[in-house]
Amino acid sequence: MASRCWRWWGWSARPRTRLPPAGSTPSFRHHFSTQEKTPQICVVGSGPAGFYTAQHLLKNVINTFTQTAHSGRCAFWGNVEVGRDVTVPELREAYHAVVLSYGAEDHRALEIPGEELPGVCSARAFVGWYNGLPENQELEPDLSCDTAVILGQGNVALDVARILLTPPEHLERTDITKAALGVLRQSRVKTVWLVGRRGPLQVAFTIKELREMIQLPGARPILDPVDFLGLQDKIKEVPRPRKRLTELLLRTATEKPGPEEAARQASASRAWGLRFFRSPQQVLPSPDGRRAAGVRLAVTRLEGVDEATRAVPTGDMEDLPCGLVLSSIGYKSRPVDPSVPFDSKLGVIPNVEGRVMDVPGLYCSGWVKRGPTGVIATTMTDSFLTGQMLLQDLKAGLLPSGPRPGYAAIQALLSSRGVRPVSFSDWEKLDAEEVVRGQGTGKPREKLVDPQEMLRLLGH
Ligand code: NAP
Repeated sequence: MASRCWRWWGWSARPRTRLPPAGSTPSFRHHFSTQEKTPQICVVGSGPAGFYTAQHLLKNVINTFTQTAHSGRCAFWGNVEVGRDVTVPELREAYHAVVLSYGAEDHRALEIPGEELPGVCSARAFVGWYNGLPENQELEPDLSCDTAVILGQGNVALDVARILLTPPEHLERTDITKAALGVLRQSRVKTVWLVGRRGPLQVAFTIKELREMIQLPGARPILDPVDFLGLQDKIKEVPRPRKRLTELLLRTATEKPGPEEAARQASASRAWGLRFFRSPQQVLPSPDGRRAAGVRLAVTRLEGVDEATRAVPTGDMEDLPCGLVLSSIGYKSRPVDPSVPFDSKLGVIPNVEGRVMDVPGLYCSGWVKRGPTGVIATTMTDSFLTGQMLLQDLKAGLLPSGPRPGYAAIQALLSSRGVRPVSFSDWEKLDAEEVVRGQGTGKPREKLVDPQEMLRLLGH
């Protein structure tokens, strides 16, 4: 799906309960002139969590996001920011239930000296930049250095390393933005280090992403076999996915590559490496103090077992010179509205199986419910569970009784505030425009990155 400027996409979904006879329901958005008797549900957010929740509320008869969006019982409204254009209490007043699925749009800060220096940026902003998120288009990362350091060893760190090291001629055939491609073509980055405070058994990335990295054209891996000593025995006891991942790391670090792979590695002009047992302490300034020139790392060792394995400093320090530092230590949700409880330490809305604590009729799903972890299948399961809880409450009569106006009331509010929501067919127009713009260049699409241009194209 193309990325868009509209940060909060709203959904209105009507669950299957008390459906009008089949074929009698016109498009949802044309349906309300008075108070609606059927349950009115608003889903805030149109990422995987929002889509999967809506899908479950429509009872799983629909199996893709586009089909969900086209359902006559579902309407999609974008270009609306909850917390700014409309409040959660207003949504709760208009709907029988509201589901918050707005994800994690902030990054966790390192909280170390030097983090604010030019040459340091969050991996999240970097990903947003090359993916065409409007709010990250000003990033202009300086890729004139030889070495980049990524702090963290999760999938985002691998994504960023891959983009930094992929030969530009390969990126030309992807949907990366034209501007990012231009900067990456001029890049002088040859080596990327991914730094983890713990060891190979604790990396946070997954095997598919690691495999892609190992096979990256023109790049060779740098792994120190010393980091893998004794691991062969330990991996016998770990769960299967972790075992397979560690075996791949172990093979890459310790086995002599076959002739073909050896030749590939010998001709590679770029390299990436995993640095283990190193915890970031400070971003080091250049001699003139104007930008980042390296990272000071505390050497660590592990204490504890399994999930409780912690990195503790040994007292030794090490400096890793570089010209670009990308912090990739996880994402963080933001509170959306003062009326919604928020656990700022964990960065989630306190909930029990998706029911927001102490707020009847308010639910959450996805990263804002459980924190920014897991792959897309995790979000699907988690969102279906929230949908299930909501339907259970509906059936048990726990949601407000009496009719609710649904979107009709919100539309009136938005209109009085000068907000111009966009529909799913608008979204499809922009999607088609991006595909047209990509044609002739061999790209699947050229992303639109300017919200004003998007609105102009829609005639708003
Ligand atoms: P993540 O998976 O939580 O990884 C964060 C990394 O940062 C870990 O290596 C963690 O090490 C480290 N870290 C955390 N705090 C640190 C600190 N204070 N100092 C040093 N290191 C620290 O986060 P992510 O990479 O941002 O990914 C977010 C989610 O998106 C994940 O669930 C990921 O799988 C998902 N994602 C999936 C894909 C995909 O499926 N292709 C792509 C991108 C993202 P510790 O383990 O020691 O804490």
